[in-house]
Amino acid sequence: MNSEELFKISKNIIPGGVNSPVRAFEPYPFFVKEAKGSHILDIDGNDYVDHCLAYGPILLGHSDEDVMNDVYNQMQIGTAYGAPSENELKLAQEVIDRVPCAEMVRFVNSGTEATMAAIRLARGFTGKNKIVKFEGAYHGAHDYVLVKSGSGAACLPDSAGIPESTTQNTLSVPFNDVEALTQLIKEEGENIACIIVEPVMGNIGCVEPTVKYLKFLREITEENGIVLIFDEVITGFRLSHGGAQEYYGIKPDLVTFAKVLGGGFPIGAYAGRKEIMELIAPNGPVYQAGTFSGNPISIQAGLSTLKKLDYPFYGELSRKGDLLRNNISDIVEDLKLDLQVVGLSSMFQIYFNPDTVLNYEIAKRSDVKRFLVYFRDLLKNGVFIPPSQFECNFISGAHSEEDLIKTSEAIENALKLAW
Ligand code: PLP
Repeated sequence: MNSEELFKISKNIIPGGVNSPVRAFEPYPFFVKEAKGSHILDIDGNDYVDHCLAYGPILLGHSDEDVMNDVYNQMQIGTAYGAPSENELKLAQEVIDRVPCAEMVRFVNSGTEATMAAIRLARGFTGKNKIVKFEGAYHGAHDYVLVKSGSGAACLPDSAGIPESTTQNTLSVPFNDVEALTQLIKEEGENIACIIVEPVMGNIGCVEPTVKYLKFLREITEENGIVLIFDEVITGFRLSHGGAQEYYGIKPDLVTFAKVLGGGFPIGAYAGRKEIMELIAPNGPVYQAGTFSGNPISIQAGLSTLKKLDYPFYGELSRKGDLLRNNISDIVEDLKLDLQVVGLSSMFQIYFNPDTVLNYEIAKRSDVKRFLVYFRDLLKNGVFIPPSQFECNFISGAHSEEDLIKTSEAIENALKLAW
């Protein structure tokens, strides 16, 4: 059977034919046969340079041999214990050594779990109920944060099934807007437990904080007794050795991780100041638990992955990112297109938008119809990116210069077609 046939069957037995909404695209998504290094192959015989990379977890490339060998060895001695094992300490220590704000770490199974637990913890610590997120930011699929989300939820700003009483405690403001947040804190500051922020907004495409915006967030939260949470589910261990907080030199109170930390296996984590983290059960009053939390397979994959992510690795990754972004900028300039080429390190995107994108409001003005023409042509020419203007594209350590040239050429074709 081919992808089209499988998708037809799938739609009858799996809602929408997929297990996560953004994976469904018109006319049908390809079904994967295998993925190795920087490439992903479908069952229809197509081979793509992969810049989706599972929406972020794959940083070394698919099925890195060293990681797979270590995981295979771990599988021989157990796949789930329900009791602590030493590797959990080793990975926790590795996170603490790398991440400026991390004094203690708790492992969970996904980014959704991590942000849910971190928000509950901030509420438990401050005794306040309200939380602030940024318009378009995606922090997972749980009820506290599924308002004005970007990413797959962009068309469903409020999901059905979430009580209003839950979301009335969730406030949101535009990213990179000092005035809007200052005003909100003037009005509501004493009721706000935390501000949760993607330091680089990877779920509305790829939007960096303006100079000093993160510093402003740090100062205003400190002045008002508000917990600052960096959601580094995308940027953690991707942007640099110690994530966005090391990259930008700003230390939040709490941080959430997932994706890269599991080296291609399911994981999540939240970490931060000891004084706050010590409130978590069993010793503290803030409950959080999970059957698979600290799962030995994911922990081993994370350990083996982080071992390979040293400073030279990040230097090389940035060099590749710059190379690709420069190529794309040259193409856009030659074609005289009014588009924004954005990104940093291994993250990139092209906004089909004449304006500099500073937040979701501006991002939403992008020409998504043209973006879809561009996406489909890339796919036809062997390059896979996420099927949305409001997702980020990635590069892995396994991408070769040859891959990046192929991507640049495909982008040139696709841009010509879309215009
Ligand atoms: N936070 C951010 C910034 C994300 O990008 C995502 C997922 O894309 C999440 C949280 C949720 O993570 P997960 O899909 O592992 O639950």
